Amino acid sequence: MKDATLALHYGYEKDKEKAMQVPIYMSTAYEYEDTDHAARLFNLEEEGNIYTRIGNPTTKVFEKRIMALERGVDALAVSSGMGAIYYSLANLVKSGDNIAISTKLYGGSITLSTQTLKNFGVEARFFDPQNPSSLEKVIDKKTKAILFESIANPSLVVADFDGIVEVADRFGVVTICDNTMATPYSIKPIELGVDVVVHSASKYIVGNGSAIGGVIVEGKGAKEKLKNYTQFNSPDESYHGLVYLDKFDAPFISRARLGLLRDFGAVLSPFNAWLFILGLETLHLRIERHSNSALKIAKFLKKHKKVKKVNYPFLKSDENYTLAKKYLKYGGGILSFELGSYEEAKEFVKKLKIFSLVTNIADSKSLITHPASTTHQQLSKEELKNAGVPEGLVRLSIGLEDVDDLIEDLREALK
Ligand code: PLP
Repeated sequence: MKDATLALHYGYEKDKEKAMQVPIYMSTAYEYEDTDHAARLFNLEEEGNIYTRIGNPTTKVFEKRIMALERGVDALAVSSGMGAIYYSLANLVKSGDNIAISTKLYGGSITLSTQTLKNFGVEARFFDPQNPSSLEKVIDKKTKAILFESIANPSLVVADFDGIVEVADRFGVVTICDNTMATPYSIKPIELGVDVVVHSASKYIVGNGSAIGGVIVEGKGAKEKLKNYTQFNSPDESYHGLVYLDKFDAPFISRARLGLLRDFGAVLSPFNAWLFILGLETLHLRIERHSNSALKIAKFLKKHKKVKKVNYPFLKSDENYTLAKKYLKYGGGILSFELGSYEEAKEFVKKLKIFSLVTNIADSKSLITHPASTTHQQLSKEELKNAGVPEGLVRLSIGLEDVDDLIEDLREALK
């Protein structure tokens, strides 16, 4: 089946009520047939529902659908995108290990890696996602994970997948790709050799800024690499000596669910899982529309005399154009551009009528962010320059409104 069909049908079997839409199972726990049945479930001899912290029938449908779209072997939904990233890293590292992270990551992922994980005895080392030899330089025997984004937020840098995967495979290190910005309709990292894909489902998957959630997808290549990770090839005492690699076809997700979700508990609400199921149904239509509108707007801005520079991967003039055309089907709905000064950007934002000033992306409604006055406010002029965030830079998340109205709004605000 093709993606649009999978997104509407995969993983849901109707019960006797024949509900067309996946039912929301708002239930904490599930009744056992008898004590033998309960014992079989607890002993992992049989699959079934026990307690919603480690599995829920509504959430299962969402997990199966995103797994199918990403061409993975299993998936685990959690309560936020940051939860998905944290669990993926925590599944691979122990105190004394290190991780290689792209310099072009969402700010939250950088803080998690360089600050929080540091307190757990894990070191983060940076590499340039467009320069695989910089990755090779930071890897050693203690490197257990490589984290990067397909299209980076907010820099819009497109990763050199072939280069990163080649180095990671040579060293046997598990790769984690955050595919939030691109979505599986634009790129399928697992088909390019990536081991684990993560998403903030709060963005394009839900598609309308209504719910927070995250998901992890395991690719078929992860299992081979995990043979060298002790937590996967040795007995887990918390499960009577279970060896994840022996027991499961998808050991990465199985351990994340049975160990990390059991103990840390950042479970997704079944209601949010249901919103994500609805979101996936129309994701293909929305991504095409967001991307077509964003390209049209990027071209409009590029010609405008007040605009110093436009960043959009599908613009021929963009630094990412070659890699974007090589890997991506769509340019995505996010672009940024530079006005002359902090004051000019402030005035421009004030005059907009349709775009809302919000620190988020991927809503159905168009959004604008001015990093220098918000996310990057604490930085000095010099630091802003080094971070690649000029004072006059604004980021647009193009919504689903009529693109002519959006262009008119921008044109008026630029006057
Ligand atoms: N990854 C990317 C690329 C993001 O843009 C974000 C949030 O903006 C996250 C992860 C974190 O997701 P969440 O807000 O769902 O925790």
